Amino acid sequence: MNKMAGCRFILLYFATCFLVPSIDATEGDADPIYMACLEQCEKSGCVGEKCFQHCKFSSDGKPIDEPWYLQEPLYQKWKQWDCLSDCRYHCMVAREDERRKLGGKPVKYHGKWPFQRVYAIQEPAAVAFSAISLALQFHGWITFFILLNYKLPLRPDKKPYYEYTGLWHIYAILAMNFWFWSAVCHSRDVELTEKVDYSSAVALIGFSFILTILRAFNVRDEASRVMVAAPLIAFVTTHILYLNFYKLDFGLNMIVCLSMGVAQLLIWGVWAGVTSHPSRWKVWLFNVGGVLSLVLEIYDFPPYKGFLDAHALWHAANIPLAYLCWSFVRDDAEFRTLTLLNKMK
Ligand SMILES: [Zn+2]
Repeated sequence: MNKMAGCRFILLYFATCFLVPSIDATEGDADPIYMACLEQCEKSGCVGEKCFQHCKFSSDGKPIDEPWYLQEPLYQKWKQWDCLSDCRYHCMVAREDERRKLGGKPVKYHGKWPFQRVYAIQEPAAVAFSAISLALQFHGWITFFILLNYKLPLRPDKKPYYEYTGLWHIYAILAMNFWFWSAVCHSRDVELTEKVDYSSAVALIGFSFILTILRAFNVRDEASRVMVAAPLIAFVTTHILYLNFYKLDFGLNMIVCLSMGVAQLLIWGVWAGVTSHPSRWKVWLFNVGGVLSLVLEIYDFPPYKGFLDAHALWHAANIPLAYLCWSFVRDDAEFRTLTLLNKMK
């Protein structure tokens, strides 16, 4: 029983921590007509003729028509999120219809472009592309694993010769984690999913930055690796804690992620320029794609037909990049293994 209470406390603690409102207003949600619609909707549970099941609360905030076992605090919170999300969406659709009739251009609501929902999925294109990236990361990881353990020769202690094996395994897990949460966040973005998505992204970019330095500078001994990784891990952890528990600052996060991303592209660019690695052209190609995808992340435009915006295209651009990345990693594992074996002969 105590254990149950403990779990519930932790869940509640996380729910309240993640619920601190911190998103800055954008043009659409600062609009008085939209604000009036939202206020009305949260009271009545309806926008025009459309009414929402999730918005049925009694005066003390408890749901009217749910059995007692569903009236958990966390469940209520979820219902409130759903109610707010439905109200925001339908008020936005109504307002955007009016704006379009008057010849206005789409504006952002709560930091997001007005997207068309498909089966309650907020940004179907970004979700689909994230899911493909997730599958490709998994495929890349599995093929890397098979290559190392079943195709390439192993050391006498049955471990692979490739010195970066463990690092790429961690990378694969962080990448799959990121694409999973990215798909979840673009399906339904509430503070909680948004924060998990941002944290996963920072963790992935931070770790790939460490991996970039270690691989490009051929850092192989344990002590030097710790010296490189420790300050970066400390920085990335602090940034994640800042985003989650102090302020979900999109601008600051963009600067942190972009600087780590650009630094990686620069290091790989220089590396590919000086190395005689047989697969350096893949790094060049990856860098060109990486720069183009960064442009999409910075250059923002409203969604075409309510579906494809710059960010969704950024997700699409990541699909070939994920494939290229793992293709290089497999080549690198093979190249390093053969180099080491030749040295030993
Ligand atoms: Zn995204």
